[in-house]
Amino acid sequence: MTASITPQPGILDIALYQSGESEIAGHADPLKLSANENPFGPSPAAMDAMATVLSESHRYPSTDHADLRKAIAQLHGLDADRIICGVGSDEVIHFLCQAYAGPGLEVLYTYHGFGMYRISALAAGATPVVAPETERRVDIDALIAAVTPVTRLIFIANPANPTATLLEISEIARLSDALPPECLLVLDGAYAEFADGYDGGAALVTVRDNIVMTRTFSKAYGLGGLRVGFGYGPRVVIDTLNRIRGPFNLSVIAVAGAKAAVGDQAWVNECIRVNAAERARLTGGLRQLGIACDDSHANFVLARFADEAEADAADAHLKSEGIIVRAPKSYGLPECLRITVGRPEDNSRVLDALASFRGAE
Ligand SMILES: *Cc1c(COP(=O)(O)O)cnc(C)c1O
Repeated sequence: MTASITPQPGILDIALYQSGESEIAGHADPLKLSANENPFGPSPAAMDAMATVLSESHRYPSTDHADLRKAIAQLHGLDADRIICGVGSDEVIHFLCQAYAGPGLEVLYTYHGFGMYRISALAAGATPVVAPETERRVDIDALIAAVTPVTRLIFIANPANPTATLLEISEIARLSDALPPECLLVLDGAYAEFADGYDGGAALVTVRDNIVMTRTFSKAYGLGGLRVGFGYGPRVVIDTLNRIRGPFNLSVIAVAGAKAAVGDQAWVNECIRVNAAERARLTGGLRQLGIACDDSHANFVLARFADEAEADAADAHLKSEGIIVRAPKSYGLPECLRITVGRPEDNSRVLDALASFRGAE
């Protein structure tokens, strides 16, 4: 007999996720500006807390992350019972698709939308549907027009990745108002901390029954390697997601690190302050070199070149100088390079390298 072991429909349509590159042949210590990581690393308080619990690693972690949820709730003024913690916000995105999408149902996102939306939709057997954007911005009217009777989830990252653009909260409210009752809107707030005066949509989620906000410790908090994120939404939705969450999804170390990171707001606020100043300097420097760039509301900038060939040449030049950025071709942006805002000296290196690229062109 020949085995015919076959995965569920959709699974083999998933292309493996491409993360930012981290190596350049011939460069022992490249400058990695390809994954929107915090260049200053984790908070020292988080590192101490993790070191302290290493000796507890033989114990299973708490199943409900009550302490961490309470700390998050206090910080943002939320109800802890409406929070779920995941192995990165990616896991929360996954839970949402597992719980609310499936065969015959659609998951909607936008043209330059984050890659995990498609992966999680296909993993659930659902059909991914893409709405157009307008000038690298999420277009609420295009999203509303793309909703069908089988749409169940709509994902928007705000600020968006890889475009770094930001939607007004009034626009998000308008989308929420326009949705049919069986549709859930997911506001991915991975970069919310970097957008001045923006709460990630938390206040809106508090008073609506069709929006979930996802947040992460991977970006502003500098804990991408630890894998902690959370979702905040209507109580019935959080209750549903908890049924499919593994009981021990976050390790003892992850819970301790994230909780201490929440407690060290001075650290994260300083990182955000430096990011804003450096982001402005990087944006201004790119424009001075004649490289177009939208105003960024995140910890990266999207540099736009004349065409794909010029972006490739700039990427090659940066690599030759030991600098790794992200070429977001799979996001429909072949003429662009996404550059994570680094430390001040890193950003100076990027601008110097691009100036010499311009000079040699
Ligand atoms: C980085 C990122 C995430 C966060 O992923 P984690 O699983 O929390 O590390 C989510 N959404 C977007 C748009 C991102 O860029």
